Amino acid sequence: DSFLQLNLSRPLLRACEALTFTKPTPIQAACIPLALTGRDICGSAITGSGKTAAFALPTLERLLYRPKRMNAIRVLILTPTRELAAQVLSMIEQLARFTDIRGCLAVGGMPIKEQEAALRTMPDIVVATPGRMIDHLRNSMSVDLDDLSVLILDEADRLLELGFSAEIQEIVRLCPKKRQTMLFSATMTEEVNDLIKLSLSKPLRLSA
Ligand code: AMP
Repeated sequence: DSFLQLNLSRPLLRACEALTFTKPTPIQAACIPLALTGRDICGSAITGSGKTAAFALPTLERLLYRPKRMNAIRVLILTPTRELAAQVLSMIEQLARFTDIRGCLAVGGMPIKEQEAALRTMPDIVVATPGRMIDHLRNSMSVDLDDLSVLILDEADRLLELGFSAEIQEIVRLCPKKRQTMLFSATMTEEVNDLIKLSLSKPLRLSA
């Protein structure tokens, strides 16, 4: 078992090598081939399992071969906290270093004007906390989700514990119906299952 068997492109394999990721973790081995088919996925996975690369690698792979409309957010990743958002973006930037795919943050606690300027530079991937993302979608002419192809809900149980249910529902309604959605959660509570029903379509369930 190596990354070579996972049908990822050379720039992504090189990035894994540079990070000294030699073997996929169990969640990566399970998630990457399924995510590459475009199916919706919900995964039970905790921090430390390698879940970030498990959703980031197939997402980057899909972006590499899709034409891009100007000014379009193609991937939105919702996380419960700024700290997690920054960690996820950092992992994505490391995995995307040999590509021209770019990401940016949309989180609270940072000046909104600076973030609007960053969003106008046309990042492919936005890593956001739900409240700040809603602010951008409501207030900024230059931000929409019309061309989104992948939505990722990371640490869904914590997103819900922190009271972001209404924001997530509003964001999901603004996403195109035809998209891939991946949800990861340490625990599968009733609330998480309700969110799965609302935002995923015929999801494959993984645990690792
Ligand atoms: P995560 O669960 O996504 O927070 O990742 C936990 C840690 O595992 C991060 O520091 C990653 O850099 C590292 N990691 C992810 N995938 C691999 C891998 N395949 N081999 C070695 N380390 C990894």
